[in-house]
Amino acid sequence: MKVNLGGLVYLSTVDWMGRAAMVIFLRGCPLRCPQCQNKALQNGEQLVEISYIKEEIKKIRCFMPTSEQVTLEEACLKAAERPLISALVFSGGEPLMQPNQVVSLARTAKSLRLKTGLETCGYFPNRILRLLTQDVIDKVFLDIKASFHDPEYENATGMAGVALKVKESLSICMKLGIPLEVRTTVFPNMPSPSEVFEIAEALLDLKFIYPENRLESFVIQQGRPRDAEVQPICLENLKSLAESLKDRIDVRVRCSPKFGIDL
Ligand code: SF4
Repeated sequence: MKVNLGGLVYLSTVDWMGRAAMVIFLRGCPLRCPQCQNKALQNGEQLVEISYIKEEIKKIRCFMPTSEQVTLEEACLKAAERPLISALVFSGGEPLMQPNQVVSLARTAKSLRLKTGLETCGYFPNRILRLLTQDVIDKVFLDIKASFHDPEYENATGMAGVALKVKESLSICMKLGIPLEVRTTVFPNMPSPSEVFEIAEALLDLKFIYPENRLESFVIQQGRPRDAEVQPICLENLKSLAESLKDRIDVRVRCSPKFGIDL
């Protein structure tokens, strides 16, 4: 089986808060978000054998408990060589453009006792459902880019008709009780504070409908505008937005996404 690979990051501490993770970026995305930070991964082709990626996953997990005896010195050397990576995260692009590859790689990760996470835009609810019922994903990180209607969602993703699919994906995650982090990236022009409130309201409604949900947090991220001339939204504004929601939902503010500083 081939994988359309965007890249591998061997150590990330920002994709899964509290864990050191390897991240596999899968190429291809059905959306065309104007503020996309990974435009190079929206399309194109870089096909590699899946066995290559599996070998790379095994390398990060080479320091595993084994029945073989090693000296203390050898154990220290191995531990220093390999940080204690405990998770594998699928990112992109949109990983569910390649659902069979995600399942196969996630199985390898789980056989190595790594936790598995999926970062997704939620465009493929049926694929999320199929994936989650195969029990190979431990946590979903779902991007919600705007309030659930057009033209807001269309403006944020460059495509009409996405909002309902994302809402269905969200409902599936809540209904199945998969550990879930919802992320909304805020830029100066979108989504507006009232949209962020609407997203929070939608989360609260679904929490009520699906009491078995495991929504762990709603993360409001500071987006970095693609136009370097435009300043990101002020962190103080995001913090006061979060402050007004925090009595009702576990909300966190994150400085520009890839800096990974939770406030
Ligand atoms: S969903 Fe993500 S990868 Fe796809 S276009 Fe939007 S920001 Fe880019």
